Amino acid sequence: MLYDLAEGIVGKNGIAIIDILKDNRDVNEFKIAEKMKLTINQVRNILYRLDAHDIVSFIRKKDKRKGWYIYYWSLDKLKALKLFVKMKERGIQQLNHVLASHENKRFFRCNGCEIELTEENALTHDFICLECGNLLELSDNKGKIVEIRKNITKEKKILELIRAEMAKLSVEEHKKIGMKEKRARKQAKQKPKKKSKKAKGRKK
Ligand SMILES: [Zn+2]
Repeated sequence: MLYDLAEGIVGKNGIAIIDILKDNRDVNEFKIAEKMKLTINQVRNILYRLDAHDIVSFIRKKDKRKGWYIYYWSLDKLKALKLFVKMKERGIQQLNHVLASHENKRFFRCNGCEIELTEENALTHDFICLECGNLLELSDNKGKIVEIRKNITKEKKILELIRAEMAKLSVEEHKKIGMKEKRARKQAKQKPKKKSKKAKGRKK
Protein backbone atom coordinates (compact mmCIF):
# COMPACT_ATOMS: atom_id res chain seq x y z
CA MET A 1 0.00 0.00 0.00
CA LEU A 2 2.83 2.36 0.87
CA TYR A 3 4.51 1.45 -2.40
CA ASP A 4 1.35 2.30 -4.34
CA LEU A 5 1.05 5.59 -2.55
CA ALA A 6 4.67 6.65 -3.06
CA GLU A 7 4.57 5.54 -6.68
CA GLY A 8 1.43 7.61 -7.15
CA ILE A 9 3.18 10.71 -5.88
CA VAL A 10 6.71 10.47 -7.28
CA GLY A 11 6.67 7.56 -9.73
CA LYS A 12 8.92 4.51 -9.70
CA ASN A 13 11.53 6.15 -7.45
CA GLY A 14 8.92 6.21 -4.72
CA ILE A 15 9.14 2.43 -4.42
CA ALA A 16 12.90 2.51 -3.88
CA ILE A 17 12.58 5.25 -1.27
CA ILE A 18 9.92 3.32 0.67
CA ASP A 19 12.15 0.25 0.53
CA ILE A 20 14.97 2.19 2.15
CA LEU A 21 12.88 4.07 4.73
CA LYS A 22 10.31 1.49 5.78
CA ASP A 23 12.49 -0.24 8.38
CA ASN A 24 14.95 2.53 9.21
CA ARG A 25 14.61 5.91 10.86
CA ASP A 26 16.73 9.03 10.28
CA VAL A 27 18.46 7.79 7.15
CA ASN A 28 21.26 9.99 5.84
CA GLU A 29 20.24 11.47 2.49
CA PHE A 30 23.65 10.73 0.99
CA LYS A 31 23.14 7.05 1.80
CA ILE A 32 19.72 7.15 0.11
CA ALA A 33 21.29 8.73 -2.97
CA GLU A 34 24.02 6.10 -3.00
CA LYS A 35 21.55 3.23 -2.72
CA MET A 36 19.30 4.66 -5.42
CA LYS A 37 22.22 5.58 -7.68
CA LEU A 38 20.85 9.11 -8.00
CA THR A 39 22.43 12.50 -7.36
CA ILE A 40 21.80 14.16 -4.03
CA ASN A 41 19.66 16.80 -5.74
CA GLN A 42 17.47 14.20 -7.42
CA VAL A 43 16.95 12.43 -4.11
CA ARG A 44 16.15 15.68 -2.30
CA ASN A 45 13.68 16.57 -5.00
CA ILE A 46 11.81 13.27 -4.49
CA LEU A 47 11.92 13.56 -0.71
CA TYR A 48 10.65 17.15 -0.74
CA ARG A 49 7.70 16.05 -2.83
CA LEU A 50 6.91 13.28 -0.34
CA ASP A 51 7.41 15.78 2.48
CA ALA A 52 4.87 18.10 0.88
CA HIS A 53 2.35 15.28 1.36
CA ASP A 54 3.56 14.96 4.95
CA ILE A 55 4.46 11.27 4.67
CA VAL A 56 8.18 11.70 5.36
CA SER A 57 9.92 13.92 7.88
CA PHE A 58 13.50 15.00 8.40
CA ILE A 59 15.91 16.20 11.00
CA ARG A 60 18.98 18.14 9.96
CA LYS A 61 22.38 18.11 11.48
CA LYS A 62 25.36 20.25 10.66
CA ASP A 63 28.33 18.30 9.40
CA LYS A 64 31.11 19.72 11.55
CA ARG A 65 33.88 18.95 9.10
CA LYS A 66 32.21 20.11 5.90
CA GLY A 67 30.16 22.85 7.52
CA TRP A 68 26.90 22.10 5.68
CA TYR A 69 23.64 20.56 6.77
CA ILE A 70 22.83 16.92 6.18
CA TYR A 71 19.21 15.80 6.22
CA TYR A 72 18.14 12.55 7.86
CA TRP A 73 14.82 11.21 6.63
CA SER A 74 12.14 9.04 8.19
CA LEU A 75 8.89 7.65 6.89
CA ASP A 76 5.70 8.40 8.80
CA LYS A 77 3.74 5.23 8.05
CA LEU A 78 0.61 6.29 9.88
CA LYS A 79 0.37 9.61 8.04
CA ALA A 80 1.12 7.87 4.76
CA LEU A 81 -1.71 5.42 5.32
CA LYS A 82 -4.05 8.25 6.31
CA LEU A 83 -3.31 9.94 3.01
CA PHE A 84 -3.90 6.66 1.18
CA VAL A 85 -7.29 6.32 2.91
CA LYS A 86 -8.22 9.83 1.76
CA MET A 87 -7.26 9.00 -1.82
CA LYS A 88 -9.21 5.75 -1.75
CA GLU A 89 -12.27 7.42 -0.22
CA ARG A 90 -12.20 10.05 -2.94
CA GLY A 91 -11.91 7.31 -5.55
CA ILE A 92 -14.89 5.43 -4.13
CA GLN A 93 -16.91 8.65 -4.06
CA GLN A 94 -16.19 9.19 -7.74
CA LEU A 95 -17.14 5.60 -8.55
CA ASN A 96 -20.42 6.03 -6.65
CA HIS A 97 -21.08 9.16 -8.66
CA VAL A 98 -20.47 7.36 -11.95
CA LEU A 99 -22.60 4.46 -10.74
CA ALA A 100 -25.53 6.73 -9.86
CA SER A 101 -25.40 8.48 -13.24
CA HIS A 102 -25.37 5.16 -15.09
CA GLU A 103 -28.35 3.98 -13.09
CA ASN A 104 -30.33 7.10 -14.01
CA LYS A 105 -29.11 8.35 -17.39
CA ARG A 106 -28.46 7.06 -20.87
CA PHE A 107 -24.96 7.28 -22.29
CA PHE A 108 -23.62 6.96 -25.81
CA ARG A 109 -20.21 5.63 -26.65
CA CYS A 110 -17.76 5.09 -29.47
CA ASN A 111 -16.49 1.56 -29.03
CA GLY A 112 -13.41 2.19 -31.14
CA CYS A 113 -12.21 5.24 -29.17
CA GLU A 114 -13.68 4.09 -25.86
CA ILE A 115 -15.24 7.52 -25.39
CA GLU A 116 -18.55 7.90 -23.59
CA LEU A 117 -20.85 10.91 -23.72
CA THR A 118 -24.01 11.80 -21.85
CA GLU A 119 -27.15 11.81 -23.95
CA GLU A 120 -27.21 15.64 -23.96
CA ASN A 121 -23.61 15.84 -25.20
CA ALA A 122 -24.16 13.12 -27.77
CA LEU A 123 -27.20 14.99 -29.06
CA THR A 124 -25.27 18.25 -29.52
CA HIS A 125 -22.73 16.31 -31.61
CA ASP A 126 -25.42 14.59 -33.68
CA PHE A 127 -24.37 11.24 -32.15
CA ILE A 128 -21.08 11.36 -34.01
CA CYS A 129 -17.72 10.60 -32.33
CA LEU A 130 -15.55 13.72 -32.15
CA GLU A 131 -12.37 11.66 -32.52
CA CYS A 132 -13.10 9.32 -35.42
CA GLY A 133 -16.44 10.43 -36.87
CA ASN A 134 -18.16 7.11 -36.31
CA LEU A 135 -21.74 6.91 -35.13
CA LEU A 136 -22.11 6.67 -31.34
CA GLU A 137 -24.00 3.71 -29.91
CA LEU A 138 -26.16 3.47 -26.85
CA SER A 139 -23.99 2.36 -23.92
CA ASP A 140 -24.56 -0.93 -22.17
CA ASN A 141 -25.35 0.60 -18.79
CA LYS A 142 -26.08 -2.76 -17.17
CA GLY A 143 -22.62 -4.07 -17.98
CA LYS A 144 -21.03 -0.84 -16.82
CA ILE A 145 -22.98 -0.90 -13.54
CA VAL A 146 -21.81 -4.45 -12.80
CA GLU A 147 -18.22 -3.39 -13.53
CA ILE A 148 -18.40 -0.27 -11.32
CA ARG A 149 -19.98 -2.23 -8.45
CA LYS A 150 -17.15 -4.77 -8.66
CA ASN A 151 -14.62 -1.95 -8.54
CA ILE A 152 -16.30 -0.32 -5.55
CA THR A 153 -16.28 -3.64 -3.65
CA LYS A 154 -12.60 -4.10 -4.47
CA GLU A 155 -11.70 -0.58 -3.36
CA LYS A 156 -13.67 -0.95 -0.13
CA LYS A 157 -11.78 -4.14 0.67
CA ILE A 158 -8.47 -2.31 0.20
CA LEU A 159 -9.77 0.47 2.44
CA GLU A 160 -10.58 -2.08 5.15
CA LEU A 161 -7.06 -3.50 4.91
CA ILE A 162 -5.52 -0.04 5.24
CA ARG A 163 -7.70 0.79 8.25
CA ALA A 164 -6.71 -2.50 9.93
CA GLU A 165 -3.06 -1.72 9.29
CA MET A 166 -3.51 1.79 10.70
CA ALA A 167 -5.15 0.41 13.84
CA LYS A 168 -2.22 -1.99 14.30
CA LEU A 169 0.30 0.82 13.83
CA SER A 170 -1.40 3.17 16.25
CA VAL A 171 -1.57 0.43 18.91
CA GLU A 172 2.18 -0.07 18.45
CA GLU A 173 2.81 3.68 18.72
CA HIS A 174 0.71 3.93 21.88
CA LYS A 175 2.67 1.05 23.37
CA LYS A 176 5.92 2.82 22.54
CA ILE A 177 4.68 6.05 24.09
CA GLY A 178 3.40 4.09 27.11
CA MET A 179 6.81 2.47 27.58
CA LYS A 180 8.55 5.84 27.34
CA GLU A 181 6.19 7.27 29.95
CA LYS A 182 6.76 4.30 32.24
CA ARG A 183 10.49 4.79 31.94
CA ALA A 184 10.12 8.50 32.60
CA ARG A 185 7.97 7.79 35.67
CA LYS A 186 10.53 5.27 36.97
CA GLN A 187 13.29 7.83 36.55
CA ALA A 188 11.19 10.46 38.27
CA LYS A 189 10.65 8.09 41.20
CA GLN A 190 14.34 7.24 41.41
CA LYS A 191 15.50 10.84 41.52
CA PRO A 192 13.92 11.84 44.83
CA LYS A 193 15.32 8.64 46.41
CA LYS A 194 18.84 9.68 45.48
CA LYS A 195 18.22 13.12 46.94
CA SER A 196 16.88 11.68 50.17
CA LYS A 197 19.96 9.48 50.48
CA LYS A 198 22.13 12.53 50.08
CA ALA A 199 20.03 14.37 52.61
CA LYS A 200 20.41 11.50 55.05
CA GLY A 201 24.15 11.49 54.42
CA ARG A 202 24.33 15.15 55.29
CA LYS A 203 22.45 14.60 58.49
CA LYS A 204 24.95 11.96 59.55
ZN1 LIG B 1 -14.56 7.30 -32.14
